[in-house]
Parts: sequence; C-alpha cells; structure tokens
Amino acid sequence: MKTFTYERVRSAAEAAQAMQKTPGARFIAGGTNLLDLMKLQIETPGHLIDVNGIGLDQIAPTADGGLRIGALVRNTALASDARIRRDYAVLSRALLSGASGQLRNKATTAGNLLQRTRCPYFYDTAQQCNKRQPGSGCGALQGFNRGHAVIGASDACIATHPSDMAVAMRVLDATVETVRPGGATRTIPIAQFYRLPGATPQVETTLAPDELITAVTLPRPVGGMHAYHKVRDRASYAFALVSVATIIQPDGTGRVAVGGVAHMPWRVEAAEAGMPHGAAAVAARLLQGARTTEQNAFKLALVERTLATAMIDAHTMSKASAS
Ligand code: SF4
Repeated sequence: MKTFTYERVRSAAEAAQAMQKTPGARFIAGGTNLLDLMKLQIETPGHLIDVNGIGLDQIAPTADGGLRIGALVRNTALASDARIRRDYAVLSRALLSGASGQLRNKATTAGNLLQRTRCPYFYDTAQQCNKRQPGSGCGALQGFNRGHAVIGASDACIATHPSDMAVAMRVLDATVETVRPGGATRTIPIAQFYRLPGATPQVETTLAPDELITAVTLPRPVGGMHAYHKVRDRASYAFALVSVATIIQPDGTGRVAVGGVAHMPWRVEAAEAGMPHGAAAVAARLLQGARTTEQNAFKLALVERTLATAMIDAHTMSKASAS
C-alpha cells in the first residue's frame, strides 16, 4: 500500500473544506471497497478524509411522505429498518442479497452506491484495463467475460456495476443529495447518477471529484409487490450474473430494473408498458440493442426468465394477500 495521510472531520461542511484543501484526497467511511483497492494499489490517494464522525446516520421521514436516508446509514441498519421493510421491501431484499453480514455492518449507503466494478482485469494490475489505466486497453473484451455487460457497453469497457442496492434505488426512483466545497448542494435523480463507459470508463458517476454524498431520498411509497431476484454462481457472497428488482401492482402494471447487465443499474421506463403482457415483451424492449459475447449471451434469456419468475411470484403473493 502507498503511504497516505489521514484526518477525521466532524461535519459535512468540514469534509468538503478538507477536500478543497487537499485535491486528490478521498472520503472514507466503511472502506469495504476502497481499502481493498488501496492495498492492490489500484487507487492510491495521498490523503484520506474519514467522514464517519459527521452524523448523517439517520433515516428520517420527508415532508412528502418519503424517507431521507443519511449517507452513513449502514447497509444492515437500512435493510432492517421497519419502514424500509414495510414500504420499500425491494430495497431491504436487495441489500440482504449483497455481500456478507460483516460487510453490511460496515458498508454505508453512499459507499454502496460508489463501489467499483468487480471485473477481474480491473483488480489485476498486470492486465490491460481502461478503467484502471485509461488508454491501456480492455483485457475482458477478448478474455474471460462471462459476467460482463450485455447492454450499454463500449469498445473501451464492458464492466458491470456490482451494487444490488443501486438496482433497488433505481426502481424506487431515489435521488442522491450532495454538497460541494463552498457549501453548494444539489439533488441528482438516480437515473442521472451513473454514466455509461463510452470512451472514459474511469468516470463512473456524474459526481464531481470533490463532491460528498450526504443522503439518498426515497419518494413516497408506491405500494405493490416488491421483489429482488438475484442469480449468481453460488448462493451467497457473490455478485449478480443477473438481478431483477420489481414492483408489481395488482393490475399487472409495474416497474423493473436489472443488475449485472450494464455499467449501471439498467432500467428502461418505456419497457414497463409491456408488464401486463408478460416478461418476454418487457425483456425484449429492456435489452434492445444488446451486444453480447460468446460467453455472456446467456444473460439475455436469464433476464427474461428471472423477470418471469418475479412476475409469477408477485401474482401468487397478490392472490394470497387477497384471500
Ligand atoms: Fe477494465 Fe472495463 Fe475492460 Fe474490465 S471491462 S478490463 S474494467 S476496461
């Protein structure tokens, strides 16, 4: 690990000021991804700003009936919150399908959103990787790419985003709140938070380098049957090959976002018009323009089948709750 300096801050404003004083620094909270990246010298910040002491660890109601989740709320606390389990069950289920209990106890809401791809070429510094070292090439394109993206990828990068939580946030239409040095705040809809890789896969979100996430806000509950189905190579502690977050209403309408298929949680609102007509119609529209490799083409059928399972489950739950 490269040497670095470290400081603790006591407020979001102090954190933003510390970042302004030390360009190139990184914020750290749970550190469950960043420390691994630093040990491998994939990320080498010269200074860490520890934000664990700045508060932002509460879940509070908003004026319009939603919930504001502090950036430092741990994944375990978020998944087990009674309001989340009752009104945003897809989020609780997505969180519990990710990582391990120990990691969820440390990992924060903001950190979960910002975790980086698990592409093996990104983590192996002997391999080409445009995301780790821009312009060096992409080892995955002609390599082992069974778990890689099938939609929205580019010739520079075919990585997927690893977060389960982010897929649920996308289907819930969450918004991300931030602060910049100088105190300017802004609200970013989750649909505009992540970027496709294009020619600059190292730029993964629309955040500025010195911007601090302070909260994630959920709009008022929309009801319906919530489900998160994750398909992976082993039953726990593995990233999704495909995951499907759904909210399905009793009349068959609904929402769907998919994980494990793109550089961001993948949702195409226009595809949701097909929900009452079955999974095939939705999946065809959702994955329109997909570009697969020999190894990962199976993901197209897997999305459709996983969505079909979610729809059958929702129908079954709906009938059970009506009887
Ligand atoms: Fe790097 Fe992206 Fe290629 Fe993986 S897919 S090797 S992260 S450029």
